[in-house]
Amino acid sequence: MTTSDMDSSATPMDAAVREDDVAFRVIDFLFVHRLSTTPVHYAVVHAYFDGKHQEICAAIDGLLAAGKPLDAFFVGELYEEYLAAEAIRRFRGVGSDVERLLEGLMDSLRTADQGSSEYQASLRENIGKVGQSSDALHLKQVAQSLLESAIKASETNDVLKKSLETADQEARQLRSELEKHRRETMTDPLTGLLNRRGMEVEMSRVLGEDVEGKATMMVLDIDHFKRINDTYGHAVGDVVIRKVAQTVKRLIPAGAVPVRYGGEEFAVLLPRSSADEARGIAETIRDTVEKLRLIRRHDKMAISQFTISIGIAKRSLRDDMETLFQRADKALYEAKSGGRNRVMLAV
Ligand code: GH3
Ligand code: MG
Ligand code: MG
Repeated sequence: MTTSDMDSSATPMDAAVREDDVAFRVIDFLFVHRLSTTPVHYAVVHAYFDGKHQEICAAIDGLLAAGKPLDAFFVGELYEEYLAAEAIRRFRGVGSDVERLLEGLMDSLRTADQGSSEYQASLRENIGKVGQSSDALHLKQVAQSLLESAIKASETNDVLKKSLETADQEARQLRSELEKHRRETMTDPLTGLLNRRGMEVEMSRVLGEDVEGKATMMVLDIDHFKRINDTYGHAVGDVVIRKVAQTVKRLIPAGAVPVRYGGEEFAVLLPRSSADEARGIAETIRDTVEKLRLIRRHDKMAISQFTISIGIAKRSLRDDMETLFQRADKALYEAKSGGRNRVMLAV
């Protein structure tokens, strides 16, 4: 049997065929070649008809032209060689565990396919026998044999179902672990804000959505922080960094992206704040930090007042993250050289 015996219009190279035509031809082809409708068979025959895989077309045409039967083994081999690798490659970025899972899934599909092929073969054979038989005992044997095949096929299906459930559960678990890992690699452990890597990812995302240029960048730096470290020690310095981070987080609007990008340096991307609104927010943060009063726990010593300086830049559509940050950082530098504990807006 060749494709041309089936339907002369069903040439694999016909690029104009509609998707549902392809689906119909695939089912028809599977039926004609007595192949069960498993995802693997479907994928290979679909690839044969959509004409995008020359190797698959050539292999199937070659086999049919030689008058050989197209069986599940041959189709499985084609899948392994040309399609499975592609499917697995797509997942490679997610890690080898997922690959292992996919391979397990493939094994289960193959097992199920074998089960249902055997069942189909048994059905065919027994139905043939029924046609030839007029003997009641023989009919009973045939029925018994069919029943056994049906039970075996259903057991195979149960195995497949369980494997799929396990694989699905493992895939969910992996996905949530990957997500957790991704979040951890973007988070600063001291403050819970985004770190420099998170800054790249999240600020680029927000700026990508900011097609009208409504975003504003704020860069904050603790004044004379070295003195705090030198006077009270590194641990108190860390508490100060954390307090400033909490204050920033509490006073910025929803949707803003706060980041600790350096030791005592923070940046906040405000997606929809005008320069005036950003200045108002910055003044509130500056004023709140100035009024913080910290007491060292073990000796009840009051930590002297500390302040921050802030630079602000309104995004122009020419700005990418880098240039917007540089402009805000330049304004911060002016706030520092202008005496610290102040907010400066980039021109
Ligand atoms: P300026 O007002 O000009 O910003 O002065 P400054 O002293 O704040 O600036 P400088 O950049 O000279 O000092 C920053 C200090 O921050 C130096 C470094 O030891 C300290 N530092 C960096 N990371 C950490 C950290 O995670 N914890 C603590 N406690 N200190 C840090
Ligand atoms: Mg500083
Ligand atoms: Mg600094």
